[in-house]
Amino acid sequence: MKKGKNCVICGINWGDEGKGRMVDLLTDHYDIVVRYQGGGNAGHTVINEKGKFALHLLPSGVFREGVVNVLGNGVALDPENLWKEIGEVREKGVEITPENLRISDRASLLLPWHREQDALEEARLADKKYGSTKQGIAPFYSDKYQKKTVLAGELFHPEELRSHLQDLLEWKNLTLQRVYGAEGWTAERLTEWIEDYGEKIRPFICDTGAFLAEASLSGKRILFEAQLGALRDLDFGIVPFTTSSNTIAAYAPIGAGLPSLSVDEVVGVVKAYSTCVGEGPFVSEMFGPEAEKLREAGAEYGAKTGRPRRVGAIDLVATRYGVQIQGASQIALTKLDVLSYMDTIPVCGAYLVGGAETERFPFPTELAEAKPVLRFIDGWKCDISGCRSWEELPPKAQAYVKLIEDAIGCPITYISVGPERESIIIREK
Ligand code: GDP
Repeated sequence: MKKGKNCVICGINWGDEGKGRMVDLLTDHYDIVVRYQGGGNAGHTVINEKGKFALHLLPSGVFREGVVNVLGNGVALDPENLWKEIGEVREKGVEITPENLRISDRASLLLPWHREQDALEEARLADKKYGSTKQGIAPFYSDKYQKKTVLAGELFHPEELRSHLQDLLEWKNLTLQRVYGAEGWTAERLTEWIEDYGEKIRPFICDTGAFLAEASLSGKRILFEAQLGALRDLDFGIVPFTTSSNTIAAYAPIGAGLPSLSVDEVVGVVKAYSTCVGEGPFVSEMFGPEAEKLREAGAEYGAKTGRPRRVGAIDLVATRYGVQIQGASQIALTKLDVLSYMDTIPVCGAYLVGGAETERFPFPTELAEAKPVLRFIDGWKCDISGCRSWEELPPKAQAYVKLIEDAIGCPITYISVGPERESIIIREK
């Protein structure tokens, strides 16, 4: 199997495709795993010999000995939640040290008022809410672009940091108090928070750009781990129901801290059916008992929030678009085993937009009225979770995989048939 020196693992759809298990599998071949965007607002689920983990901000390479994990400048660094997560992972016997976790000094801090503002804005939007997980991601990124938050490296300069935070506090209280009528923050509360959590994460902070540059020069292999999926990308996704950062592979070198690096492999992760958490257009959505059955079969409940995920037929229109904007060079198709109970499997091959059939992914405004054009293919109706090779898959399952591959124009090289590390078929192409 071709494994590039610098490889991005990213989601092709709405997120929750099973990226965590793919990173967990591929970290074996890499020296460094980097998270380059997003924050603790989503979760990767990884199951391995140490247990079951829901990772939110930590890179999935933390489970492999000798792998260095990096949180790049592009992430939303929430010291409080990161510290909680480190605690949870350590409790299960996983070591997290400044040797195997390095945080970029250029990562901006998600401050506690970002979470508060996120919740206030969702409440104001009421039935027009964006479906935020209320982790503060949107206010964080807008403040970052306004240059109104602090860099992790400022924790090494406490005097300057104190006065910087005082300026930010006065500015943020204008919004919290005057726009939302909230209580606002006091300097004492903020100082207490930063002294507590800042102190805890400071040992992990360093110049990760320099570290990556040196590592790359000396031939180290780097794996970049994206959060969410292509359709949640701030620029190319289903605006405004996107996240507030760039989830696409092209952003990886920038958000990681090595903007000049060229990526030579992009593994796009696609689920064998569709799921979507939160609000926004979801053309191939299924409803009623059919949806309930699929949700149960796939255990489709959010890793972060426990919210039931919306489920639907595989959407080849959205998936082809996702493959294109990610520039995927190969595909991992996950959760194929979940479809084993179906007599016939629905496939959305085109949309109806403005009365005409199209295979083109529409502009966000048009997406709201798009209807799915469905066809049904025969199910294989047997347990495939023990299959470990392409040949062992029943012909009808092979036909389903090939149909997807042809429609999206990218080779499917990994097929997962269960959540465990070894429940995977590696397909030589
Ligand atoms: P991520 O954020 O893209 O990593 O996705 P999530 O972790 O939110 O969702 C993937 C979920 O599906 C996790 O609970 C995995 O353990 C599970 N999973 C991953 N691959 C498979 C598979 O092939 N079969 C089954 N049944 N479950 C899988």
